[in-house]
Amino acid sequence: MKVRIDSELCTACGLCTDDVPDVFVMGDEVAEVTNPDVSAELEDAVKDAADSCPAEAIIVE
Ligand code: SF4
Repeated sequence: MKVRIDSELCTACGLCTDDVPDVFVMGDEVAEVTNPDVSAELEDAVKDAADSCPAEAIIVE
């Protein structure tokens, strides 16, 4: 599973970086993904973060 953040949509609310800090970190202006290849044990947490993102900026593929 892969994940990315649409930087045009992210509002830097901090939800994903608080919930899954192993995958999402706050950059200078928006959240960033540390590694787009999500490990199996983090897949559910990343999917939950994508569902919870108020800007729908987290794209899981
Ligand atoms: S939850 Fe969504 S809007 Fe908030 S920081 Fe993460 S990607 Fe950006």
